[in-house]
Amino acid sequence: QIQFADDMQEFTKFPTKTGRRSLSRSISQSSTDSYSSAASYTDSSDDEVSPREKQQTNSKGSSNFCVKNIKQAEFGRREIEIAEQDMSALISLRKRAQGEKPLAGAKIVGCTHITAQTAVLIETLCALGAQCRWSACNIYSTQNEVAAALAEAGVAVFAWKGESEDDFWWCIDRCVNMDGWQANMILDDGGDLTHWVYKKYPNVFKKIRGIVEESVTGVHRLYQLSKAGKLCVPAMNVNDSVTKQKFDNLYCCRESILDGLKRTTDVMFGGKQVVVCGYGEVGKGCCAALKALGAIVYITEIDPICALQACMDGFRVVKLNEVIRQVDVVITCTGNKNVVTREHLDRMKNSCIVCNMGHSNTEIDVTSLRTPELTWERVRSQVDHVIWPDGKRVVLLAEGRLLNLSCSTVPTFVLSITATTQALALIELYNAPEGRYKQDVYLLPKKMDEYVASLHLPSFDAHLTELTDDQAKYLGLNKNGPFKPNYYSY
Ligand code: NAD
Repeated sequence: QIQFADDMQEFTKFPTKTGRRSLSRSISQSSTDSYSSAASYTDSSDDEVSPREKQQTNSKGSSNFCVKNIKQAEFGRREIEIAEQDMSALISLRKRAQGEKPLAGAKIVGCTHITAQTAVLIETLCALGAQCRWSACNIYSTQNEVAAALAEAGVAVFAWKGESEDDFWWCIDRCVNMDGWQANMILDDGGDLTHWVYKKYPNVFKKIRGIVEESVTGVHRLYQLSKAGKLCVPAMNVNDSVTKQKFDNLYCCRESILDGLKRTTDVMFGGKQVVVCGYGEVGKGCCAALKALGAIVYITEIDPICALQACMDGFRVVKLNEVIRQVDVVITCTGNKNVVTREHLDRMKNSCIVCNMGHSNTEIDVTSLRTPELTWERVRSQVDHVIWPDGKRVVLLAEGRLLNLSCSTVPTFVLSITATTQALALIELYNAPEGRYKQDVYLLPKKMDEYVASLHLPSFDAHLTELTDDQAKYLGLNKNGPFKPNYYSY
């Protein structure tokens, strides 16, 4: 029995969909505001009529969708084909499992960003036997032409870029509430869809075999439900799978820090002095990229182990106060709050660039800059000059929010890892024998995490060494994995 009233309270503690991208990373917000992103094409405001008011049919005569403009389907198809190039793992999963159809009979209701990369996922799920109904988890991130291509291919998609709050819930509702069709799996990114089903259609959970959740926020909500004893189906937390974490935090940040800084400031890094606060996964990724371009990198850390790692990697470990007057760039990656304070900002030199790669917008005390003696000048999208009375300027990027989510793109390859993880989690939950998963939140089994990685290896023509029987016995391992204990930290 679902206790809805309390669930509501739990859900309403969280910010709404528009403010909550945080780390759920199926797509960067840049797809809505970056000038180089394909999404820029979707802005063609062909007319101002709401898609809800339009009568549209695809070439097969179906009108089981609601998108901005079905005529954009051909262009969207090309976007999907481009994404497929760097998502070879999903394509190979499609080929391997196509005969077997492990999702035959699965009726998946999904709520994720609707982009070319998600389209590759959705079409993979369909190829594996699933029926899908899909809405967008963010009102700005839908690539209209991709939604059109999906609708043309027969997927029931309800999404367009620039939905209102009301449209957002209407689209979710159209996916769940359909005569003669009842979902038996949920794929969610952010928890809004799960919330809607709890709120409006609790009976649907009688048929649901599992929820796969992608985002930090959504996973947090699921753990809360589980703790309160209110989770009524098994759920898979794919956000914390090893492959996803490594790629999002270390490798993706290594790629995107320079992209974000260069697009916004045109800065050259050779010989520049940069201080990176926090030498965890994100910090390590940023430092590797900066070092490769010849920047002089300083690290601040609170943890002696990470500080020692930084020393071993050839970085100077300092207190922020010791270098704040001389550095050209300050980057926060700690997950902490008030790491860069007003006092630090006051002491920075002219033109110092300040940005955040860590948690939300808490790391830099941006609020302290909203005082009458300081002038703010918006010089570009996502770039503010904060000007002191003596003329000194500090260059603040994305108002202290995550730089890469605001100002750069996320590589398709990273999204491929996420999408492959989601597909495998759906297959696992859908096919699991009764009793394997209870009404709780689970991590993807390590073996499947290894499988996600192995599907991506052929892109690099990488050749894995196989254990001999003797070696497997010596190490106490199964030759086919898992190869590491759960506590191994990679
Ligand atoms: P982590 O825990 O591995 O690293 C954070 C490091 O910061 C730790 O080593 C910690 O000791 C250090 N630290 C904490 N407070 C500090 C302080 N006051 N001064 C100096 N160092 C301090 O975490 P992570 O995986 O590197 O993630 C860091 C943050 O980045 C998290 O908030 C995470 O959610 C976010 N994140 C961002 C992206 C992105 O794309 N920008 C991707 C993944 C994660």
